[in-house]
Amino acid sequence: MAAYERWLVPKGNVFRPSGAAVSKLVARLRGEKWIVDPAAVGPLRFEGARDQLAAATGGLAVRTVDNTFGGDRRARLLGSAEPLPAQLTSAWIDDSAREELRIVWPVDAEDTRLVHYPLSRAPSAHRRDDRVSFTLEIHLSHDYVYPARDGLEPIPTECACGDDLSFAWDEDDLVPAFPASTGIFAECEACARTFDPAKGAAKLVNPIDGSFATVRGGAAYRFALKAVADPYVHDAALAFNLELVALVEDEFGRDFYQFAALS
Ligand SMILES: [Zn+2]
Repeated sequence: MAAYERWLVPKGNVFRPSGAAVSKLVARLRGEKWIVDPAAVGPLRFEGARDQLAAATGGLAVRTVDNTFGGDRRARLLGSAEPLPAQLTSAWIDDSAREELRIVWPVDAEDTRLVHYPLSRAPSAHRRDDRVSFTLEIHLSHDYVYPARDGLEPIPTECACGDDLSFAWDEDDLVPAFPASTGIFAECEACARTFDPAKGAAKLVNPIDGSFATVRGGAAYRFALKAVADPYVHDAALAFNLELVALVEDEFGRDFYQFAALS
């Protein structure tokens, strides 16, 4: 079965909070039990070499790095990831080495009360072999990230000067923080105009029932919350937990919108 991925991105797409604002958001998410407290990670399971980096504080961070690992998949995974510090500082987040940053909290536990479930419906936990399993992520990027998924159609990426601002992270040269995504330059190198994704629109399909909406800015973002759930509830109305959305909107004083895909 595929995993269900859902993104929560700011309306208008341009918004990217400062490191200080992100560290404040993380503290609030932790305080309101959306992410695990570093002092309480004991009951969580961290399987796989990369997820084990989260064993100390509950989180890990992935950033785009030069590919000095060739095709060695394990070395690439570990070389682009690091344990998340227990206390996030703005200096750590704003470090130029982390211009493209994905913070990941993998949750795999039998105790469903450790943290709130990020989506509107959690799979039933009544069966004996059931356990809660999801990841919550924060994505930050200088340039726009655009997930490459069936059902998330691209937006127009041509600058007014005619240059195409879309790019790919070349996986021979780089280990990208955002796998299976393309990028859109935030500024045009040729004419220095800034790119505004919301001038275009794209069809975003609900992967559960195939319904769709044409959305300004499509799936472009410089900041996102992302949840990945496997298993997940097969429901076309599946969305982010309303209280989590309210927290994020309140924290930044702006509206967000959502889209999903299966991977
Ligand atoms: Zn241009």
